[in-house]
Amino acid sequence: MTNYIDLHTHSTASDGIYSPTELLQRAKDSGLRVLALTDHDTTGGLEEAAKAAAELDIDLIPGIEINTDVSGGEVHVLGYFPEFQRPAFQAVLKVLRDARERRGQRIVELLNEQGIHIEWERVREIAQGAVGRPHVAKALLEAGYVQSIGEAFDKYIGNGCYAYVPRYRLMPEDAIRLITSANGLPVMAHPADLPGLDELRNWLPRLGEAGMVGLETYYGQYTPEQEQALRALADEYHLIPTGGSDFHGPGIHPTPLGGRYVPYEAVERLKAEAAKRRGKTPPAFELPPPVQEK
Ligand code: AMP
Ligand code: ZN
Ligand code: FE
Ligand code: FE
Repeated sequence: MTNYIDLHTHSTASDGIYSPTELLQRAKDSGLRVLALTDHDTTGGLEEAAKAAAELDIDLIPGIEINTDVSGGEVHVLGYFPEFQRPAFQAVLKVLRDARERRGQRIVELLNEQGIHIEWERVREIAQGAVGRPHVAKALLEAGYVQSIGEAFDKYIGNGCYAYVPRYRLMPEDAIRLITSANGLPVMAHPADLPGLDELRNWLPRLGEAGMVGLETYYGQYTPEQEQALRALADEYHLIPTGGSDFHGPGIHPTPLGGRYVPYEAVERLKAEAAKRRGKTPPAFELPPPVQEK
């Protein structure tokens, strides 16, 4: 059986390897019918993706992913069907991307201080759009300091490592409100990034209150047991169970494009919720001031 839905992918607009057009072509070749493009802090790939999707007869769901750091882990929030042309939404995304530039430069500085010689100009070149740690990892790989992207995270740029620098400090609730401010649907990405189901249970009521509507249940390499536990939590907290591969191209995450079965229910329920919000006046969002950088 071929899977036909993937609701979590990245392109060169952020830290994916393939351009939106290439990604859509690959989705077609893999037999996908529904694809969501969810780049980090940018909707810059969506127009090109929509054009390619129309030519290939793929149902493209516009999306975004906003990463936040919490004590003990990260909470990433996917946003589906944001009305991304809204100027206020784009203005906030621009602030987040600008902060990614400064953070990327700071990571390179910290590496240089440790005698690791990579250049910011090279990282910037590798990153065609919104810069992220995978671009730094690639520069480290290129320069021969590591043998894989994963090793770069483990040794140098992962949380707890010497050259780890946090992003613009957003709380998960901020990410949820930002997405809501564009009439998008906030969904918690790869919830097993939090250390344990108890920790997740602590977060869910808070996040639900902030406006989260879904929980990524059918994710990447999650085991059947994890899927079952997440599905139960989604039902308990009235969240839409979504899913996808988190495909970035080879070398970043192991699941191939379309490599995880996602039920059509996820698409139907997201579309129904999006239809209720479309065109309504959303609540405004104000970005909290940045916390002092390292
Ligand atoms: P950033 O938003 O710049 O902090 O980068 C985070 C992104 O790096 C995630 O969305 C993943 O795509 C990728 N990533 C995080 N941890 C790892 C890892 N251990 N190995 C490979 N890629 C990773
Ligand atoms: Zn990524
Ligand atoms: Fe993520
Ligand atoms: Fe992702």
